[in-house]
Amino acid sequence: MLRVAVVGSGPSGVYTAQSLVQLDPEVHVDVIDRLPCPYGLVRYGVAPDHEKIKSLQSNLRSVLEQDRVRFLGDVEIGAGGVAVERLRELYDAVVYCVGAATDRRLGIPGEDLRGSWSATQFVSWYSAHPDAVDHGFVRGARSAVVIGVGNVAVDVTRILARGAEELSPTDMPQAALSALAASRVTEIHMVGRRGPSQARFTTKELRELGGLPGADVLVRPEELDLDPAYGDPSGLPAVRRRNTEVLRAWAERPAGGAGRRIHARFFLRPVAFLADSTGTRVAAVRFERTRPERDGGVIGTGRYEEIEAQLVLRSVGYRGVPLEGLPFDTRSGTVPHRAGRVLREGVAAQGEYVAGWIKRGPTGVIGTNRSCAKETVTSLLEDASMIVRTSPRDDPITGLRDDGIAPVEWAGWRAIERAEAALGASLGRGGVVKLPDWPSLMAAAEHGDSAP
Ligand code: NAP
Repeated sequence: MLRVAVVGSGPSGVYTAQSLVQLDPEVHVDVIDRLPCPYGLVRYGVAPDHEKIKSLQSNLRSVLEQDRVRFLGDVEIGAGGVAVERLRELYDAVVYCVGAATDRRLGIPGEDLRGSWSATQFVSWYSAHPDAVDHGFVRGARSAVVIGVGNVAVDVTRILARGAEELSPTDMPQAALSALAASRVTEIHMVGRRGPSQARFTTKELRELGGLPGADVLVRPEELDLDPAYGDPSGLPAVRRRNTEVLRAWAERPAGGAGRRIHARFFLRPVAFLADSTGTRVAAVRFERTRPERDGGVIGTGRYEEIEAQLVLRSVGYRGVPLEGLPFDTRSGTVPHRAGRVLREGVAAQGEYVAGWIKRGPTGVIGTNRSCAKETVTSLLEDASMIVRTSPRDDPITGLRDDGIAPVEWAGWRAIERAEAALGASLGRGGVVKLPDWPSLMAAAEHGDSAP
Protein backbone atom coordinates (compact mmCIF):
# COMPACT_ATOMS: atom_id res chain seq x y z
CA MET A 1 0.00 0.00 0.00
CA LEU A 2 1.42 3.31 -1.12
CA ARG A 3 1.20 6.38 1.07
CA VAL A 4 1.36 9.54 -1.01
CA ALA A 5 1.46 13.17 0.10
CA VAL A 6 0.01 15.77 -2.26
CA VAL A 7 1.19 19.24 -1.32
CA GLY A 8 -1.46 21.81 -2.21
CA SER A 9 -5.22 21.38 -2.20
CA GLY A 10 -6.09 23.51 -5.23
CA PRO A 11 -7.50 21.92 -8.37
CA SER A 12 -4.20 20.34 -9.42
CA GLY A 13 -3.71 18.78 -5.96
CA VAL A 14 -7.25 17.48 -5.71
CA TYR A 15 -7.23 16.11 -9.28
CA THR A 16 -3.94 14.39 -8.44
CA ALA A 17 -5.55 12.77 -5.40
CA GLN A 18 -8.52 11.77 -7.53
CA SER A 19 -6.35 10.17 -10.21
CA LEU A 20 -4.36 8.32 -7.57
CA VAL A 21 -7.37 6.71 -5.91
CA GLN A 22 -8.97 5.96 -9.29
CA LEU A 23 -5.89 4.29 -10.72
CA ASP A 24 -4.58 2.50 -7.62
CA PRO A 25 -7.10 0.58 -5.48
CA GLU A 26 -4.90 0.64 -2.38
CA VAL A 27 -3.16 3.98 -2.28
CA HIS A 28 -3.74 6.34 0.67
CA VAL A 29 -3.38 10.05 -0.04
CA ASP A 30 -2.86 12.96 2.34
CA VAL A 31 -3.63 16.30 0.70
CA ILE A 32 -1.61 18.85 2.65
CA ASP A 33 -2.21 22.60 2.59
CA ARG A 34 -0.53 25.54 4.26
CA LEU A 35 -3.99 27.03 4.92
CA PRO A 36 -6.69 25.49 7.11
CA CYS A 37 -9.00 25.67 4.08
CA PRO A 38 -8.86 23.51 0.94
CA TYR A 39 -9.37 24.34 -2.78
CA GLY A 40 -6.52 26.82 -3.43
CA LEU A 41 -7.35 29.27 -6.20
CA VAL A 42 -10.91 27.97 -6.51
CA ARG A 43 -11.47 29.46 -3.06
CA TYR A 44 -8.93 32.30 -3.17
CA GLY A 45 -8.68 33.18 -6.87
CA VAL A 46 -11.95 32.55 -8.69
CA ALA A 47 -13.90 35.81 -8.53
CA PRO A 48 -16.68 35.85 -5.90
CA ASP A 49 -19.33 36.69 -8.53
CA HIS A 50 -18.40 33.59 -10.57
CA GLU A 51 -20.67 31.27 -8.61
CA LYS A 52 -20.76 28.66 -11.35
CA ILE A 53 -16.98 28.18 -11.36
CA LYS A 54 -16.96 28.33 -7.56
CA SER A 55 -19.48 25.51 -7.48
CA LEU A 56 -16.62 23.28 -8.66
CA GLN A 57 -15.80 23.15 -4.96
CA SER A 58 -18.46 20.48 -4.57
CA ASN A 59 -16.61 18.23 -7.05
CA LEU A 60 -13.33 18.86 -5.25
CA ARG A 61 -15.04 18.20 -1.91
CA SER A 62 -16.26 14.78 -3.03
CA VAL A 63 -12.64 13.78 -3.72
CA LEU A 64 -11.38 15.04 -0.36
CA GLU A 65 -14.19 13.15 1.39
CA GLN A 66 -13.23 9.78 -0.07
CA ASP A 67 -12.13 7.08 2.36
CA ARG A 68 -8.56 6.86 1.16
CA VAL A 69 -8.05 10.64 0.98
CA ARG A 70 -7.37 12.88 3.95
CA PHE A 71 -7.10 16.69 4.14
CA LEU A 72 -4.36 18.03 6.41
CA GLY A 73 -4.58 21.83 6.63
CA ASP A 74 -2.39 24.40 8.37
CA VAL A 75 0.75 22.42 7.52
CA GLU A 76 3.55 24.42 5.89
CA ILE A 77 6.05 22.52 3.76
CA GLY A 78 9.52 23.96 3.11
CA ALA A 79 11.18 26.92 4.85
CA GLY A 80 9.88 27.31 8.42
CA GLY A 81 7.76 24.16 8.19
CA VAL A 82 8.14 20.47 7.41
CA ALA A 83 11.31 20.01 5.34
CA VAL A 84 11.02 18.37 1.94
CA GLU A 85 13.41 15.62 3.15
CA ARG A 86 11.23 14.92 6.19
CA LEU A 87 8.16 14.60 3.98
CA ARG A 88 10.00 12.04 1.86
CA GLU A 89 10.73 10.04 5.05
CA LEU A 90 7.08 10.03 6.03
CA TYR A 91 5.60 9.14 2.62
CA ASP A 92 6.44 6.78 -0.24
CA ALA A 93 5.97 9.58 -2.74
CA VAL A 94 5.22 13.30 -2.69
CA VAL A 95 3.46 15.27 -5.43
CA TYR A 96 3.98 19.03 -5.25
CA CYS A 97 0.96 20.95 -6.53
CA VAL A 98 1.87 24.31 -5.04
CA GLY A 99 0.79 26.50 -7.97
CA ALA A 100 2.31 29.86 -8.86
CA ALA A 101 2.13 31.85 -5.67
CA THR A 102 3.34 35.27 -6.71
CA ASP A 103 2.87 37.82 -9.48
CA ARG A 104 5.16 38.86 -12.29
CA ARG A 105 6.81 42.29 -12.05
CA LEU A 106 6.86 44.96 -14.76
CA GLY A 107 10.28 46.31 -13.77
CA ILE A 108 9.47 49.93 -14.61
CA PRO A 109 9.97 53.11 -12.54
CA GLY A 110 7.37 53.86 -9.88
CA GLU A 111 6.00 50.32 -9.73
CA ASP A 112 6.08 50.36 -5.91
CA LEU A 113 4.33 53.70 -5.40
CA ARG A 114 1.33 53.46 -3.05
CA GLY A 115 -1.78 52.81 -5.08
CA SER A 116 0.07 50.48 -7.48
CA TRP A 117 -0.70 46.89 -6.48
CA SER A 118 -0.51 43.52 -8.12
CA ALA A 119 -3.86 42.08 -9.13
CA THR A 120 -2.95 39.16 -6.84
CA GLN A 121 -2.93 41.49 -3.82
CA PHE A 122 -6.34 42.89 -4.77
CA VAL A 123 -7.82 39.46 -5.55
CA SER A 124 -6.49 38.03 -2.27
CA TRP A 125 -8.10 40.90 -0.36
CA TYR A 126 -11.57 40.56 -1.84
CA SER A 127 -11.30 36.74 -1.68
CA ALA A 128 -10.55 36.85 2.08
CA HIS A 129 -7.15 35.18 1.85
CA PRO A 130 -5.91 35.18 5.45
CA ASP A 131 -2.51 36.59 4.44
CA ALA A 132 -4.02 39.47 2.44
CA VAL A 133 -3.40 43.04 3.53
CA ASP A 134 -6.06 45.74 3.22
CA HIS A 135 -4.18 48.47 1.36
CA GLY A 136 -7.29 50.65 1.12
CA PHE A 137 -7.27 49.85 -2.60
CA VAL A 138 -10.24 51.91 -3.82
CA ARG A 139 -10.19 54.54 -1.08
CA GLY A 140 -9.87 58.01 -2.60
CA ALA A 141 -9.61 56.65 -6.16
CA ARG A 142 -11.65 57.97 -9.09
CA SER A 143 -9.77 56.41 -11.96
CA ALA A 144 -8.19 52.95 -12.09
CA VAL A 145 -5.78 51.42 -14.58
CA VAL A 146 -5.60 47.64 -14.96
CA ILE A 147 -2.44 46.60 -16.82
CA GLY A 148 -2.83 43.42 -18.87
CA VAL A 149 -5.66 41.86 -20.85
CA GLY A 150 -5.91 38.32 -19.46
CA ASN A 151 -8.78 36.78 -17.51
CA VAL A 152 -7.46 38.08 -14.19
CA ALA A 153 -7.50 41.62 -15.63
CA VAL A 154 -11.12 41.06 -16.67
CA ASP A 155 -11.95 39.74 -13.17
CA VAL A 156 -10.55 42.75 -11.32
CA THR A 157 -12.06 45.16 -13.85
CA ARG A 158 -15.47 43.57 -13.37
CA ILE A 159 -15.24 43.63 -9.57
CA LEU A 160 -14.32 47.35 -9.70
CA ALA A 161 -17.29 48.00 -12.00
CA ARG A 162 -19.93 46.11 -10.04
CA GLY A 163 -22.23 47.78 -7.52
CA ALA A 164 -22.88 46.76 -3.92
CA GLU A 165 -26.19 45.05 -4.76
CA GLU A 166 -24.41 42.74 -7.17
CA LEU A 167 -21.57 41.93 -4.78
CA SER A 168 -23.61 41.56 -1.59
CA PRO A 169 -24.97 38.04 -2.34
CA THR A 170 -21.42 36.73 -2.94
CA ASP A 171 -19.14 35.25 -0.28
CA MET A 172 -16.90 38.35 -0.36
CA PRO A 173 -15.71 39.32 3.14
CA GLN A 174 -17.70 42.10 4.75
CA ALA A 175 -14.85 44.66 4.91
CA ALA A 176 -14.10 44.31 1.18
CA LEU A 177 -17.80 44.56 0.36
CA SER A 178 -18.14 47.77 2.42
CA ALA A 179 -15.05 49.29 0.78
CA LEU A 180 -16.21 48.43 -2.74
CA ALA A 181 -19.74 49.66 -1.96
CA ALA A 182 -18.25 53.04 -1.03
CA SER A 183 -15.97 53.13 -4.09
CA ARG A 184 -15.97 56.31 -6.17
CA VAL A 185 -14.04 54.73 -9.04
CA THR A 186 -15.92 55.64 -12.21
CA GLU A 187 -13.23 55.20 -14.90
CA ILE A 188 -11.57 51.79 -15.30
CA HIS A 189 -8.96 51.47 -18.04
CA MET A 190 -7.99 47.90 -18.95
CA VAL A 191 -4.88 48.21 -21.07
CA GLY A 192 -3.08 45.75 -23.38
CA ARG A 193 0.38 46.27 -24.82
CA ARG A 194 -0.55 44.36 -27.97
CA GLY A 195 -3.61 44.36 -30.20
CA PRO A 196 -7.10 43.06 -29.45
CA SER A 197 -6.50 39.91 -31.47
CA GLN A 198 -3.59 39.04 -29.13
CA ALA A 199 -5.51 39.55 -25.89
CA ARG A 200 -5.50 36.54 -23.55
CA PHE A 201 -8.98 36.83 -22.08
CA THR A 202 -11.59 34.30 -23.13
CA THR A 203 -14.76 35.42 -24.90
CA LYS A 204 -17.22 34.42 -22.18
CA GLU A 205 -15.30 36.50 -19.63
CA LEU A 206 -14.94 39.44 -22.02
CA ARG A 207 -18.62 39.41 -22.93
CA GLU A 208 -19.60 39.56 -19.26
CA LEU A 209 -18.13 43.08 -19.05
CA GLY A 210 -20.70 44.24 -21.61
CA GLY A 211 -23.57 42.94 -19.49
CA LEU A 212 -22.78 44.78 -16.24
CA PRO A 213 -25.80 46.82 -15.19
CA GLY A 214 -23.88 49.88 -13.93
CA ALA A 215 -21.10 50.16 -16.51
CA ASP A 216 -20.56 50.92 -20.19
CA VAL A 217 -17.65 49.43 -22.13
CA LEU A 218 -15.89 51.84 -24.47
CA VAL A 219 -13.64 50.63 -27.28
CA ARG A 220 -11.79 52.91 -29.70
CA PRO A 221 -12.32 51.87 -33.33
CA GLU A 222 -8.93 53.32 -34.29
CA GLU A 223 -7.17 50.94 -31.88
CA LEU A 224 -9.01 47.99 -33.38
CA ASP A 225 -8.18 49.15 -36.90
CA LEU A 226 -4.46 49.16 -36.04
CA ASP A 227 -4.57 45.39 -35.58
CA PRO A 228 -3.79 43.65 -38.89
CA ALA A 229 -5.80 40.57 -37.86
CA TYR A 230 -8.79 42.75 -37.13
CA GLY A 231 -9.54 43.46 -40.77
CA ASP A 232 -9.25 39.78 -41.61
CA PRO A 233 -9.76 37.64 -38.50
CA SER A 234 -10.22 34.42 -40.50
CA GLY A 235 -6.70 33.16 -39.67
CA LEU A 236 -7.15 33.61 -35.91
CA PRO A 237 -7.84 30.83 -33.42
CA ALA A 238 -11.60 30.69 -32.68
CA VAL A 239 -11.41 32.32 -29.25
CA ARG A 240 -9.44 35.30 -30.56
CA ARG A 241 -11.76 35.68 -33.54
CA ARG A 242 -14.77 35.75 -31.22
CA ASN A 243 -13.03 38.32 -29.01
CA THR A 244 -12.54 40.63 -31.98
CA GLU A 245 -16.22 40.24 -32.90
CA VAL A 246 -17.31 41.25 -29.39
CA LEU A 247 -14.96 44.25 -29.36
CA ARG A 248 -16.08 45.33 -32.82
CA ALA A 249 -19.73 45.31 -31.71
CA TRP A 250 -18.87 47.43 -28.66
CA ALA A 251 -16.88 49.90 -30.74
CA GLU A 252 -19.86 50.39 -33.03
CA ARG A 253 -22.57 50.87 -30.42
CA PRO A 254 -23.38 54.31 -29.03
CA ALA A 255 -22.15 55.09 -25.50
CA GLY A 256 -24.79 54.66 -22.79
CA GLY A 257 -25.17 56.76 -19.67
CA ALA A 258 -24.05 54.29 -16.99
CA GLY A 259 -22.28 55.59 -13.88
CA ARG A 260 -19.05 53.70 -14.59
CA ARG A 261 -17.03 53.35 -17.75
CA ILE A 262 -14.71 50.51 -18.69
CA HIS A 263 -12.20 51.61 -21.32
CA ALA A 264 -10.75 48.62 -23.17
CA ARG A 265 -7.47 49.96 -24.57
CA PHE A 266 -4.83 48.39 -26.81
CA PHE A 267 -1.34 49.00 -28.22
CA LEU A 268 -0.18 50.81 -25.06
CA ARG A 269 2.97 49.59 -23.30
CA PRO A 270 3.49 50.77 -19.69
CA VAL A 271 6.79 52.62 -19.25
CA ALA A 272 6.47 54.40 -15.89
CA PHE A 273 4.21 55.07 -12.96
CA LEU A 274 3.97 58.80 -12.19
CA ALA A 275 3.71 60.07 -8.60
CA ASP A 276 1.40 62.72 -7.17
CA SER A 277 2.70 65.90 -5.50
CA THR A 278 3.69 63.98 -2.34
CA GLY A 279 5.98 61.78 -4.42
CA THR A 280 4.62 58.67 -2.67
CA ARG A 281 1.32 57.85 -4.36
CA VAL A 282 0.60 56.94 -7.93
CA ALA A 283 -1.28 59.58 -9.94
CA ALA A 284 -0.98 58.29 -13.52
CA VAL A 285 0.59 55.65 -15.73
CA ARG A 286 2.72 56.61 -18.69
CA PHE A 287 2.35 54.37 -21.73
CA GLU A 288 4.22 54.24 -25.00
CA ARG A 289 1.98 53.73 -27.97
CA THR A 290 2.97 50.61 -29.89
CA ARG A 291 2.26 49.33 -33.35
CA PRO A 292 2.04 45.76 -34.59
CA GLU A 293 5.01 43.86 -35.92
CA ARG A 294 5.17 40.44 -37.51
CA ASP A 295 4.06 37.35 -35.52
CA GLY A 296 1.79 39.24 -33.13
CA GLY A 297 4.59 41.30 -31.54
CA VAL A 298 4.66 45.08 -31.15
CA ILE A 299 7.24 47.85 -31.44
CA GLY A 300 7.35 51.24 -29.68
CA THR A 301 6.44 54.32 -31.71
CA GLY A 302 8.08 56.99 -29.50
CA ARG A 303 4.66 58.52 -28.84
CA TYR A 304 3.37 58.52 -25.26
CA GLU A 305 0.06 58.75 -23.44
CA GLU A 306 -0.63 59.27 -19.76
CA ILE A 307 -3.72 57.86 -18.09
CA GLU A 308 -4.77 59.27 -14.72
CA ALA A 309 -5.03 56.64 -12.01
CA GLN A 310 -5.10 56.69 -8.23
CA LEU A 311 -5.34 52.90 -8.33
CA VAL A 312 -3.25 50.68 -10.60
CA LEU A 313 -3.65 46.91 -10.68
CA ARG A 314 -0.81 45.11 -12.43
CA SER A 315 -2.36 42.00 -13.91
CA VAL A 316 0.49 40.60 -15.97
CA GLY A 317 0.44 36.97 -14.90
CA TYR A 318 1.41 34.75 -11.98
CA ARG A 319 4.81 33.29 -11.25
CA GLY A 320 5.92 30.18 -9.34
CA VAL A 321 8.11 30.56 -6.27
CA PRO A 322 10.89 28.17 -5.23
CA LEU A 323 10.16 25.70 -2.45
CA GLU A 324 13.16 25.10 -0.21
CA GLY A 325 14.62 21.69 -0.93
CA LEU A 326 13.14 21.35 -4.43
CA PRO A 327 14.95 22.29 -7.66
CA PHE A 328 13.59 25.37 -9.42
CA ASP A 329 14.05 26.89 -12.86
CA THR A 330 14.12 30.65 -12.24
CA ARG A 331 13.63 31.42 -15.92
CA SER A 332 10.28 29.65 -16.24
CA GLY A 333 9.28 29.82 -12.56
CA THR A 334 8.61 26.07 -12.54
CA VAL A 335 10.16 22.87 -11.13
CA PRO A 336 12.10 20.96 -13.80
CA HIS A 337 10.36 17.67 -14.53
CA ARG A 338 9.89 14.88 -17.04
CA ALA A 339 6.25 13.79 -17.38
CA GLY A 340 5.75 15.03 -13.80
CA ARG A 341 8.89 13.40 -12.32
CA VAL A 342 11.00 16.03 -10.54
CA LEU A 343 14.44 16.29 -12.15
CA ARG A 344 17.42 16.83 -9.89
CA GLU A 345 20.40 17.79 -12.05
CA GLY A 346 18.65 16.26 -15.02
CA VAL A 347 17.90 12.94 -13.31
CA ALA A 348 14.42 11.87 -12.14
CA ALA A 349 14.38 12.01 -8.34
CA GLN A 350 12.87 9.02 -6.61
CA GLY A 351 9.40 9.61 -5.18
CA GLU A 352 9.13 13.32 -6.06
CA TYR A 353 6.58 14.65 -8.56
CA VAL A 354 4.88 17.87 -9.63
CA ALA A 355 1.52 18.76 -11.17
CA GLY A 356 -0.36 21.96 -12.02
CA TRP A 357 1.11 25.45 -12.45
CA ILE A 358 4.39 24.64 -10.68
CA LYS A 359 4.89 21.97 -13.36
CA ARG A 360 3.70 23.70 -16.53
CA GLY A 361 3.51 27.43 -15.65
CA PRO A 362 0.44 29.60 -14.93
CA THR A 363 -1.70 28.87 -17.98
CA GLY A 364 -4.91 27.08 -18.83
CA VAL A 365 -8.30 26.77 -17.21
CA ILE A 366 -9.11 24.73 -14.11
CA GLY A 367 -9.96 21.65 -16.17
CA THR A 368 -6.47 21.67 -17.74
CA ASN A 369 -5.23 20.38 -14.38
CA ARG A 370 -7.06 17.07 -14.83
CA SER A 371 -4.94 15.83 -17.70
CA CYS A 372 -1.82 17.38 -16.16
CA ALA A 373 -2.44 15.50 -12.89
CA LYS A 374 -3.18 12.27 -14.74
CA GLU A 375 0.15 12.41 -16.56
CA THR A 376 1.98 12.84 -13.25
CA VAL A 377 0.05 10.08 -11.51
CA THR A 378 0.72 7.71 -14.42
CA SER A 379 4.46 8.37 -13.98
CA LEU A 380 4.19 7.84 -10.22
CA LEU A 381 2.36 4.55 -10.53
CA GLU A 382 4.79 3.33 -13.21
CA ASP A 383 7.59 4.01 -10.72
CA ALA A 384 5.72 2.51 -7.75
CA SER A 385 7.29 -0.93 -7.96
CA MET A 386 10.73 0.67 -7.67
CA ILE A 387 9.87 2.93 -4.74
CA VAL A 388 12.20 2.00 -1.91
CA ARG A 389 10.48 2.35 1.42
CA THR A 390 12.57 4.50 3.69
CA SER A 391 9.65 5.20 5.98
CA PRO A 392 8.27 3.06 8.75
CA ARG A 393 4.76 1.74 8.12
CA ASP A 394 3.23 4.08 10.67
CA ASP A 395 0.57 6.54 9.69
CA PRO A 396 2.50 9.66 8.58
CA ILE A 397 0.26 11.84 10.74
CA THR A 398 1.91 10.28 13.78
CA GLY A 399 5.27 11.49 12.49
CA LEU A 400 3.88 14.96 11.86
CA ARG A 401 2.43 15.08 15.38
CA ASP A 402 5.78 13.90 16.81
CA ASP A 403 7.26 16.95 15.07
CA GLY A 404 4.81 19.18 16.95
CA ILE A 405 2.41 19.70 14.05
CA ALA A 406 -1.35 19.66 14.66
CA PRO A 407 -3.05 19.66 11.25
CA VAL A 408 -6.55 21.05 10.74
CA GLU A 409 -8.37 17.96 9.51
CA TRP A 410 -11.63 17.68 7.58
CA ALA A 411 -13.80 18.19 10.68
CA GLY A 412 -11.95 21.46 11.33
CA TRP A 413 -12.59 22.64 7.79
CA ARG A 414 -16.27 21.69 8.04
CA ALA A 415 -16.45 23.79 11.21
CA ILE A 416 -15.00 26.75 9.25
CA GLU A 417 -17.71 26.23 6.63
CA ARG A 418 -20.41 26.27 9.32
CA ALA A 419 -18.96 29.45 10.84
CA GLU A 420 -19.00 31.12 7.40
CA ALA A 421 -22.63 30.13 6.86
CA ALA A 422 -23.53 31.50 10.30
CA LEU A 423 -21.67 34.75 9.57
CA GLY A 424 -23.55 35.18 6.27
CA ALA A 425 -26.87 34.59 8.02
CA SER A 426 -26.06 37.05 10.82
CA LEU A 427 -25.16 39.72 8.24
CA GLY A 428 -28.30 39.04 6.19
CA ARG A 429 -26.16 38.54 3.09
CA GLY A 430 -28.22 35.61 1.83
CA GLY A 431 -25.39 33.06 1.78
CA VAL A 432 -21.94 32.21 3.04
CA VAL A 433 -19.56 35.06 3.96
CA LYS A 434 -15.88 34.18 4.22
CA LEU A 435 -13.84 34.55 7.39
CA PRO A 436 -11.01 36.92 6.46
CA ASP A 437 -8.14 36.22 8.87
CA TRP A 438 -6.10 33.55 10.59
CA PRO A 439 -7.50 34.05 14.12
CA SER A 440 -11.12 33.66 13.01
CA LEU A 441 -10.33 30.67 10.78
CA MET A 442 -8.36 28.89 13.49
CA ALA A 443 -10.95 29.68 16.17
CA ALA A 444 -13.67 28.23 13.93
CA ALA A 445 -11.56 25.15 13.08
CA GLU A 446 -11.20 24.33 16.79
CA HIS A 447 -14.93 23.59 16.93
CA GLY A 448 -14.30 20.76 14.47
CA ASP A 449 -13.41 18.31 17.26
CA SER A 450 -16.86 18.63 18.83
CA ALA A 451 -18.67 18.61 15.49
CA PRO A 452 -21.66 16.30 15.05
P1 NAP B 1 -2.37 35.81 -18.69
O1 NAP B 1 -3.54 35.16 -19.31
O2 NAP B 1 -1.03 35.26 -18.98
O3 NAP B 1 -2.42 37.37 -19.12
C1 NAP B 1 -1.37 38.24 -18.76
C2 NAP B 1 -1.54 39.57 -19.46
O4 NAP B 1 -0.50 40.41 -19.02
C3 NAP B 1 -1.43 39.50 -20.99
O5 NAP B 1 -2.32 40.41 -21.54
C4 NAP B 1 0.03 39.91 -21.22
O6 NAP B 1 0.25 40.52 -22.47
C5 NAP B 1 0.17 40.98 -20.16
N1 NAP B 1 1.55 41.27 -19.85
C6 NAP B 1 2.54 40.41 -19.50
N2 NAP B 1 3.70 41.08 -19.31
C7 NAP B 1 3.45 42.38 -19.55
C8 NAP B 1 4.22 43.56 -19.53
N3 NAP B 1 5.52 43.54 -19.19
N4 NAP B 1 3.63 44.74 -19.86
C9 NAP B 1 2.33 44.78 -20.19
N5 NAP B 1 1.53 43.69 -20.24
C10 NAP B 1 2.09 42.51 -19.91
O7 NAP B 1 -2.46 35.81 -17.08
P2 NAP B 1 -3.68 35.96 -16.07
O8 NAP B 1 -4.70 36.91 -16.54
O9 NAP B 1 -3.01 36.21 -14.77
O10 NAP B 1 -4.32 34.52 -16.04
C11 NAP B 1 -3.56 33.37 -15.62
C12 NAP B 1 -4.33 32.10 -15.98
O11 NAP B 1 -5.50 31.98 -15.18
C13 NAP B 1 -4.80 32.09 -17.42
O12 NAP B 1 -4.69 30.80 -17.94
C14 NAP B 1 -6.26 32.49 -17.29
O13 NAP B 1 -7.07 32.09 -18.37
C15 NAP B 1 -6.63 31.81 -15.99
N6 NAP B 1 -7.81 32.46 -15.40
C16 NAP B 1 -9.04 32.05 -15.85
C17 NAP B 1 -10.17 32.68 -15.37
C18 NAP B 1 -11.51 32.25 -15.89
O14 NAP B 1 -11.59 31.27 -16.63
N7 NAP B 1 -12.58 32.94 -15.58
C19 NAP B 1 -10.08 33.72 -14.45
C20 NAP B 1 -8.82 34.12 -14.01
C21 NAP B 1 -7.69 33.48 -14.50
P3 NAP B 1 1.05 39.72 -23.63
O15 NAP B 1 0.07 38.73 -24.17
O16 NAP B 1 1.40 40.80 -24.57
O17 NAP B 1 2.23 39.06 -22.97
